[in-house]
Amino acid sequence: MSIEQQLKSDGVVVAKIDDLLNWARLSSMWPISFGIACCAIEMMGAMAATYDLDRLGVFPRPSPRQSDVMIVAGTVTFKMADRIRRLYEQMPEPRYVISMGSCADCGGPYWQHGYHVVKGVDKIIPVDVYVQGCPPRPEALIGAFLELQKVIEKEHIFHQKYFEEEVEERTK
Ligand code: SF4
Repeated sequence: MSIEQQLKSDGVVVAKIDDLLNWARLSSMWPISFGIACCAIEMMGAMAATYDLDRLGVFPRPSPRQSDVMIVAGTVTFKMADRIRRLYEQMPEPRYVISMGSCADCGGPYWQHGYHVVKGVDKIIPVDVYVQGCPPRPEALIGAFLELQKVIEKEHIFHQKYFEEEVEERTK
């Protein structure tokens, strides 16, 4: 029985700590939004009243230190690349990246002749979910968050941390 079903039926939850942590994390993703070109308009649309991304627990944050997801929405220029990497490194782990639109995915319309454009944000930081389109619709960004939820659902961060500490202790 899922955590939601247990809560509804008994009001008591019996689950592995990893499952509880994952349930909490995937229900409250806080993105730092990196709107750097036209795709950002669709990202803003996804967060406005009609699409209401908030209902999935997605609340944009102004600081990388409060964020666990970065949405890269737009054209990544070489000038911007350092800033993106620095902000990504300031985010606490575990952290995730959504590449939104053709420009962020692979350079988009600037793929061949855009001397100033990085040919994919994954050349700078690791990407978890790619959203295709020029620009992708808000529904596609909502779909990306649903995909990210599936990624988080399978993680074992508690066991991983415990295991790392155990290895560190034994190798002292
Ligand atoms: S993918 Fe298209 S809409 Fe998005 S930033 Fe690039 S040119 Fe603009």
